[in-house]
Amino acid sequence: MESVAKSALFRELPSVDELLRSPGITQLVEIHGATVVTDAARSVLARLREEISSGLLDSSSLRIALDGLPTAIQTQLRKSLSYSLRPVINATGVILHTNLGRAALSPLALQHSLDTASHYSNLEFDVEAGERGKRDVHVDRLFRKLLADVSTHVAGAFAAPPGGSPAEKGPISTIVVNNNAAAVLLALNSLAEGGEVVVSRGELVEIGGSFRIPDVMTKSGATLREVGTTNRTRISDYEKAINDRTRVLLRVHRSNFEITGFTEQPSTAELVELAHKRNVPLVEDLGSGALVDLESFGIHNEPTVLDSLRYGVDVVTYSGDKLLGGPQAGLLSGRADLIQRMRANSLFRALRVDKLIYATLEATLLAYVKHDYNVIPTLQMMRLSKGEIGERAEALAKALTKAVPSIKAEVIDGESVIGGGAAPSSTLPTRLLALASAEQSADELSERLRRSSTPIISRVEDGRVLLDLRTVFPEQDAEIAVALKTLG
Ligand SMILES: *Cc1c(COP(=O)(O)O)cnc(C)c1O
Repeated sequence: MESVAKSALFRELPSVDELLRSPGITQLVEIHGATVVTDAARSVLARLREEISSGLLDSSSLRIALDGLPTAIQTQLRKSLSYSLRPVINATGVILHTNLGRAALSPLALQHSLDTASHYSNLEFDVEAGERGKRDVHVDRLFRKLLADVSTHVAGAFAAPPGGSPAEKGPISTIVVNNNAAAVLLALNSLAEGGEVVVSRGELVEIGGSFRIPDVMTKSGATLREVGTTNRTRISDYEKAINDRTRVLLRVHRSNFEITGFTEQPSTAELVELAHKRNVPLVEDLGSGALVDLESFGIHNEPTVLDSLRYGVDVVTYSGDKLLGGPQAGLLSGRADLIQRMRANSLFRALRVDKLIYATLEATLLAYVKHDYNVIPTLQMMRLSKGEIGERAEALAKALTKAVPSIKAEVIDGESVIGGGAAPSSTLPTRLLALASAEQSADELSERLRRSSTPIISRVEDGRVLLDLRTVFPEQDAEIAVALKTLG
């Protein structure tokens, strides 16, 4: 289109002021105020200008668009005044899905944060003494209970800190920061700034969301001392690397990948022995950090925080919203004198968490103390049997087949994934609802599920849409049923 014709079209666009005075819009201004309506009018007009520029509108289609301006502004307004963050239905079967908010919190945990955060609380106030208190006491007391076994077991097993006396060794302490990345940063900065940290080349991992061990190391002010090769690192490699600038031996849980085949890695016990012999603290980034043995939940070989501490690892870092099933947080548990150094670091003040996190974390930990595992959604999902999941999937398949004969629905065997950096091979047997249609591709079907009033997130594999109800809360099944019926 010629630029002359285009400028004629541009001239037909009303100004924002004219628009705000027009009949359909004045009412919107009365209800919502001029500011937001002006914003909405501006974005709608900007869109029209773009469409004219790119030649999408001619004079007759512009006329139609202009007639529709009040409706367009109203739609834009509704969108900008509604929440962007909203619930989705996770039918992927990935229990700790980082893009979908990782661990879902229990109503109990949320109730505790509602009760305490919607009022004043004793967050940093010792009610009995009537004086200032510390925010960590609320969860440290529970971690002490959950990790108590270690404090009694290995009392005296810790090496004396360099220059310190064994009397300084206390029980296990725990502090909370924003996430596990922050926990690693705080540990390395507190213990190794200006010195060296020895780590195996096989553990220089990148975890989803751009957490790279070498980068965190640089930011902490410590120098990375790589040892071994990608697939093989021996205890003697660590030993040779230790010098008078060495401040920490670091072990990192490999999380989202596995090295198989010709591999070698010293055991935790060997590393502990070396660390203590040379008086260098051993820090372990455990990543997921299971608080209880998950064997009975069907998860094998997932190290627990307690296991590491029992071996004598000095400080363990782990996430609050992975296998622990709590809020986003980074936990540092370990030798009291080392944790004290982290608490005294000004970085700790910058990385600390707020009352909402303390409340949801405290409630989650209390459930562990009481062995009430079923109130923690992450653990409850792991415990669901293939049979239970299959029955729910069969019910949905039956309803769908009846309502939409063009979609073939069957229930097949499959695997749910733990996710969140648990052992990548950790899966749980499940039953999947598999959908295929002769008229629509699997991608189309899954897109339509995403457009449901509560978006349903599924997997697409081998030309089929797969729904794993392990990660779907049972009360959401009815919503899925409704959405499936509209797929025809
Ligand atoms: C997940 C993970 C992290 C990052 O934890 P965030 O809580 O997401 O910051 C770091 N290290 C390991 C080994 C992990 O698995």
